[in-house]
Order: sequence, then structure tokens, then C-alpha cells
Amino acid sequence: MDVLERIDYLKDEINKSNYKYYVEEDPYLTDFEYDKLFAELKELENKYPMFKTPDSPTQRVGSVSEKFFSHTHKYRLYSLDNTYNETELRKWYDRVCREYNKELELVCELKIDGLAIALTYENGLFTLGVTRGDGVTGENITQNLKTIKAIPLKLFEPKNLEVRGEIYMPKSSFNKLNEEALNTGDKVFANPRNAASGSLRQLDSKITAKRDLSMFTYTAIFEDEIDKNITGHYESIMKLKDLGFKINPNIRLVKNIQGAIDFCNEWATKRFELDYATDGVVIKVNDLAIQKDLGFTARAPKWATAFKFPPEEVATKLLDIELNTGKTGVVTPVAILEPVQLAGSTVSRASLHNFDEIKRLDVRIGDSVLIMKAAEIIPKVIKVIGTKEHENLPVYQPPKNCLACGTELIEKEGVVGLYCPNPNCGQLMRSKIEFWVSKDAMDIDNVGPSVIAQLYEKKMISNPADLYRLLPQDFMMLDLVQEKSASNMYLAIQESKSRPLNRLLTALGIRHVGKETADIIAGEFASLDDIKNADTARLSEIEGVGIIVAQSIYDYFRNEANLKLLSDLKDLGVNPVSKAAPKSDKLSGKTFVLTGTLENLTRDEAAALIKSNGGKTSSSVSKKTSYVLAGANPGSKFDKAQDLGVIILTEKDFLEMIE
Ligand code: NAD
Repeated sequence: MDVLERIDYLKDEINKSNYKYYVEEDPYLTDFEYDKLFAELKELENKYPMFKTPDSPTQRVGSVSEKFFSHTHKYRLYSLDNTYNETELRKWYDRVCREYNKELELVCELKIDGLAIALTYENGLFTLGVTRGDGVTGENITQNLKTIKAIPLKLFEPKNLEVRGEIYMPKSSFNKLNEEALNTGDKVFANPRNAASGSLRQLDSKITAKRDLSMFTYTAIFEDEIDKNITGHYESIMKLKDLGFKINPNIRLVKNIQGAIDFCNEWATKRFELDYATDGVVIKVNDLAIQKDLGFTARAPKWATAFKFPPEEVATKLLDIELNTGKTGVVTPVAILEPVQLAGSTVSRASLHNFDEIKRLDVRIGDSVLIMKAAEIIPKVIKVIGTKEHENLPVYQPPKNCLACGTELIEKEGVVGLYCPNPNCGQLMRSKIEFWVSKDAMDIDNVGPSVIAQLYEKKMISNPADLYRLLPQDFMMLDLVQEKSASNMYLAIQESKSRPLNRLLTALGIRHVGKETADIIAGEFASLDDIKNADTARLSEIEGVGIIVAQSIYDYFRNEANLKLLSDLKDLGVNPVSKAAPKSDKLSGKTFVLTGTLENLTRDEAAALIKSNGGKTSSSVSKKTSYVLAGANPGSKFDKAQDLGVIILTEKDFLEMIE
């Protein structure tokens, strides 16, 4: 391959990865692999400048999707150059210091692995929030950002400024979200950064509000004259803290590059103790006047660079592939490994995602495999280390039948991988009961997986309803259980009978209905019977519920085994009602559709007001719609309302209606 061919290949590969990463939030390369391609392209372009074109990915930042209204940034946002080694870091420092003939102070910050965002404050009020996009234009996601508690809506002082920060999802919440997605057959995110980005770039801010997102603020552009006397980056961050922003406490002002390298070494291992993902350290020149003087390349500031932590990768042997049947019947393969040390802990199991992934990697039992744990907390198998033995090992064949019950496994539309269709499958039932007692579902303390396993093996329970039939003395038949804890287990189960509707709906483990969707649906109906009687048209008109979810709920309530479970639960006293009893009936019988950005209310708040006054919300405009509540920049729903002659309300009209 000649140089030009290689450059074209790299550009193509990087552009494809950018699209998968930024737009589809589903990367197929690891960041380390991506950065290697990027560094090679940059090096070739430096060596052969005649082949450098303005459309090269080295000349651009990220990309913008067309999902939201775009917004042109007042101040451009940049990416960061990065390096994985100390020598390069020292070279960068020498380059910047040479011009000033002195050592420059640096600020070290953890590089939070999330999504960059620019927030505008006018007179201390949060008025606009935009994603980085391609640096020039981003997506206006103000409404979604308003649901994040770490973003102050009002500052302690009436300042005018723009700040930048990183939206992130804590690792614990990321793992929970993915575990739930695996069970419901929904999208599994590759890392917390993709999960944060996917959660934030939702058209329905209700979904964003349900996700655990936070933000660290790391840049300030002050616009008031009085703040122009701030001369250092470190000082500006401390000012942000005083104004009410959340800043990362692990920030350090150092005298020179050695101080920065010490910081990097310190955090290379300490980062695993944090509940958020960091992929490196950002090192910035502290002096703001020098920052201004140094300026930017087409893509990144010259006054800052990122030192990236190498991914933690280690080789080990794949001993077996274990199959787990989740509560919805999806069968997931798990790699059983020869135990190795990785990122501070002993690893003996790793994710293989699904059977397509096993095929793509051509993983065979007995192979030497490379496992990685980067931003992700759950280690995963990333590739087979090519050995002679590999060729002699049998190609892995996915099972044809469920290992637990023998039923033939099937492929189901909308579900990646294989699925056990037997609703009475033993392993599936056990997963279902384990999920039933979990925190997000019926939240039954004292009854964990080991108790469930024993109850199940002793044939004392075979479905969730059986839990409510157990008496205190039954628990005393379990290993090491004394009278007191038996009584606690019994009481905890009995107490769960009064959990609200959203929890019961989550606990049922209906495909595609995780906690968030269950919360939305439970807010629309008074009882489980009402949900059971709803048709797919009624279900899919709820904002945040699409036709696939609606169909899945509808099917669930048409399955005999499920109906028997529900009727048993009801007989045993588990029959909760919705918390959402209306405060007034001013909007009774009226259906509202929301569009655009309201001035004072978020869409969630408006929807809650509609419901608490007896009305309903819907996601699409039809002749049955009573009103369209429209804010600034309304979408196509506004045009449709006009075409159909549906009454369009302003926020003021609406508030007067419920006064
Ligand atoms: P980047 O994430 O490497 O660095 C720039 C970003 O760092 C900023 O935009 C900001 O969001 C963030 N940041 C976090 N903490 C910060 C702090 N304290 N101060 C300043 N900024 C901070 O660059 P990028 O342009 O967002 O993305 C490029 C990187 O994304 C690549 O290096 C690669 O690792 C990854 N990527 C991966 C793929 C893939 O297929 N795996 C594809 C595209 C990009």
C-alpha cells in the first residue's frame, strides 16, 4: 500500500468510527485502537503535507446529528491533542515554554470520560445548553440539561458567562443501566461516555431525567468586566465553585511538567477507586494571557494536552463459555477465564455480549484471549491472540437448546441473540425472582440471590407469587437462618405487597419495560387492570412509549401463564394502585401534545401538571388531540395541529387554564 492509499484508508476508517461513536453511540473500535489510527494519520500528514486535505478528520472535531435544533456556538469548542507517553508530554511542555523562556505553571485535571457541553448564563440564570457537536455548531438540548441537578439553574451571583463541562454517568449507574438493558433486550452501551451521551440526546427529557447524570465544570468564559481581572485558569475554576458549579475536587496547580507527571502517575491507579470514568489527565497552562497568546490549531488548543491512561489489557485463557438465561429469556454467554489481575482486581469472568460477538471475534474455548477494562467497569474479551492452537480448537457453536430446560432456543425480532421461549424455564424463573426482589423492583431487603437459590433448589418457590405464600418457619429450613432473620425475611416480603404500581410493573420484567418505562406507564394508569385493558394504540400514544414497547406490554397481558401469575398475586394481596391520583379534574378527558421549548416549565413539569389536573399527554397529534401546548422552536407537531385545526396553546394560556 502506498502512502496516499494508506492515508485514504485511515481517513475512511476514522470517519466511519466517528459516525459510529458520535452519532450512533455504538463504537466498534476501542478508544486505544482509534487513537492509534488517528496518531498514524497525523504523523503521515505531517510527513507528507501535500496529502493533507481540509476534510481530513485531523482538521475537525466530532460531528453533529440532525436529531435536535442546531445552535451556532458563540465561542468555538475544541478537542484536545493527546498522548499516551511521558516523553511526548515533556516535548509538548518544552515547546510551549521555549517561547516564554521560563517554566510555566500547569493545572492538572482528571479527564472525565463523558460528553462536552457549553452552558450560557445571563444575569445568573441558565438560558442555553448546547452539545459540542463539530465545535462550531452543536445541538440545543437545554430542556434535557435542566433535568440534571448538578447544573445550577440560578447562580449565587447575577453573572454573565459561558461555562464548559463534562456530563457523565457514574459507573455504578452505567452498570445498572446495562444490566437492565441486557434483561429487557434494549440497547447496551459500550462505556459510560456513550451511555451519558445517549441519555442526554433523548428527544424526551423525561427519559433523560430518569438517568443518573451529573456534570463537572472545567472552563469559564467570563463576560462581565469585573471578572476580566482573573488571570489564572485555576483561579477561574475556584470562582466557578463559588458561583455554585460542581467542580472536580481532584484538581492541582503545579509548578512544572514534573508536577504534572507525578499527578498522572498518582491517578493511573487511584482512578479505579472513583465512581466515574476518567480516561486520562488534562494538563493546561495556568496563565490565561499565555493561553490566549498560544491559541489553537484547527482542532485543539496549543496550551493544553491530554495524557491518556493506557487501557488495562491482559492476556489469559478462556476456560469455558457459560450461558445465563435472563428474566426475559435472553441467553447471554459469559467468558469463564483463568483468573488474572486486571485494573486492581482479580478477574475470572468477562463479558462476551452475545453470540454474534463470539462469531465476530472467532473466540473458541481454550483460546488465549485479550481482556480489557478501560472506562468500563465490566471487563470484556476484545480479541483472540493468534496462536497455532487456535486453528486446532473447534469453532464455537451456539447452543440449539436451553441448557436449563431443553427447549429449543429461538431468534426473536428486536432481540440480539438467542432466546428461551419457555415461560416456565427453571433458570429464567430464578432470574425473574431474583429481579423481583431487587432494589429497582419490589425492593425486598434480606432476600438476596443466595436465599432465592436455596428456596428454589428446595422447591419452595417456583415463581414470584410463591414468595408471598412462605411462612416465617419456612425460612428456618435454609442454611444458617435463625428465627430472627427468618422473621425479617418474612416481614420484608409481606411489606412489599404495598409497593406502588410502577415498582410492580418493573418487577414483572416485561420485555422492553425497564424502570424508566414502568415509571412513565404507571403515571398514566390507575391500576394494573387498566394497563391490562389498554390496547396498543392507547399505550403507544403515551410520550416515551413506542409501538414496540406497546406491543410487548399488550402481549404480556395476553399470555396465560402471565395472567395466572397476576391473578395469584392479586389473591395474595399484591395489587397496588398508582400514586398518581389527580389533584383536580380541570383537564379531565383532555389530551395534550407538547412541542417546542416552554419558557418557564420543562416538558416534564408541564406533563406532570396536565396529569395532576386529570388530563392525558400523547406523543402524536391526531383529530382526538384536544390541545397542542407549543413553546419556542416547535416541531412538525405544530404544523400538523394547524392542518387538523387542533387548538394551539401558549404556556401562558395553559397556566391560566389550570389556575
Ligand atoms: P477527547 O475526548 O479525547 O478530548 C477532548 C474532550 O475532553 C473535551 O471535548 C472534553 O469533552 C473532554 N474533557 C474531559 N475532562 C476535561 C477537562 N478537565 N478539561 C477539558 N476537557 C475535558 O476528544 P474528543 O474530540 O471528544 O474525542 C476524541 C476521542 O474520542 C478519541 O481520542 C477517542 O479516544 C475517542 N473516539 C473513539 C472512537 C471509537 O471508535 N472508539 C471514535 C471517535 C472518538
